[in-house]
Amino acid sequence: MSLLKRPNGTEDILPSVSRDWQKLEEFLRNTAGAFGFQEIRIPTFEQTELFSRGVGETTDVVQKEMYTVTAKESSFTLRPEGTAGTIRAMLQNGLLNEALPQRVYYILSCFRHERPQAGRLREFHQFGVEMAGSALPSADAEVISLAKQILDQIGLKHIELHINSIGCPNCRKNYHKALKEYFSGSRDCLCGTCQERLEKNPMRLLDCKVESCKEIAKDAPLILDYLCDDCKTHFEKLKSNLDALGIAYTVDPRIVRGLDYYTKTVFEFVTTEIGAQGTVCGGGRYDGLIEQLGGQATPALGFGMGLERLLLVLKSQGISLSEAKSCDVYFVPMGEQAELKAMQLTAQLRRDGISAQTDVMGRSLRAQMKYADKINARFTVVIGDNELEQGEAVLKNMKSGEKISIKLDDKFVESFSDIEIADRLADEIA
Ligand code: ATP
Ligand code: MG
Repeated sequence: MSLLKRPNGTEDILPSVSRDWQKLEEFLRNTAGAFGFQEIRIPTFEQTELFSRGVGETTDVVQKEMYTVTAKESSFTLRPEGTAGTIRAMLQNGLLNEALPQRVYYILSCFRHERPQAGRLREFHQFGVEMAGSALPSADAEVISLAKQILDQIGLKHIELHINSIGCPNCRKNYHKALKEYFSGSRDCLCGTCQERLEKNPMRLLDCKVESCKEIAKDAPLILDYLCDDCKTHFEKLKSNLDALGIAYTVDPRIVRGLDYYTKTVFEFVTTEIGAQGTVCGGGRYDGLIEQLGGQATPALGFGMGLERLLLVLKSQGISLSEAKSCDVYFVPMGEQAELKAMQLTAQLRRDGISAQTDVMGRSLRAQMKYADKINARFTVVIGDNELEQGEAVLKNMKSGEKISIKLDDKFVESFSDIEIADRLADEIA
């Protein structure tokens, strides 16, 4: 394999799109902040057992998709998702002994060995949130409304919220029995993995991606018919909370989600616009996970949002997050003295956060103007002997062609800022 080929299912985020990523991340951070969520950063890999126990032995993620290495006899796995590591970090650092609920968010890469296709990568990125400490349906509504606000405010259209309740271990006893009965007749037609699941965790059969298994599962009993009173009430209250918030939803009794830790509420935000990979956000409640990982029983919930998928849908809907970053001012120096002056002015502007450039290629005047055009410079300033002598130059607005004379003195940054702001305002009004 060529050295210059990146591994299948990975992507390079090039300068032409990294600005979209920055904008998206900034927006996610601000919105999460408005909801009281604070950032947590966790390691890229964890002990393998954290995921096999946390995510679940019978899930596709653990059975088929993990990147695991053995180093000095210990087994480590690249995180396939963010929840297990985040909960591990919260427990290890005692965050759950502080004021509850704890609200954290993260933006991180995840690794899953899947068949790469549009919206399905082997290294992908998630924005995720976790909220620990509340068992109430109002917490579910809050977490869902955060995801909803993000998708709405970013301008996405045609996104649907699907919700379901997959109950608690209590109501699942009867449900598992019903599933076993339903599937045992067609046991021999199930894929190998599902035959095993039928014994260990029959609900996982409903999440199998194999066509023949999907066909068999079509008329399987629905969990909603098996909920205990507590889970039923919780689900009803969640629905009235969402109604009160004006958030539309569809109850989809077939959602089970691909991770074992979920209890009660599960939800997905789905679009039909990027084919089969239409789930941009998935989440739910996981009241048993913290105890399962060795902490004190604490109810919690969260979601993960796939950022590549989000950007794909944005693109397919023609929504752009950022204008191409242009250069605010480009200096065109003619001669050595002018080069020094241009260097100084560039440095001053940059210190004020204004994006400025000058020639570092030794180009002619014409070639420099061409370059300024290429990088989309908003203003240019030619500095030659005359300009140096008079301490004044012409600031040219490259879009309108307007020319304003500007002093090359200590006040340059200030004068330039005024002109630049006025130009921006005029642009906005127009
Ligand atoms: P799917 O059913 O599409 O495989 P999932 O149930 O495995 O999704 P989660 O584990 O809930 O997904 O992850 C949350 C979100 O992360 C998904 O909704 C999706 O947007 C994104 N995601 C999951 N797997 C991938 C992947 N391989 N490549 C890109 N994004 C992904
Ligand atoms: Mg998956």
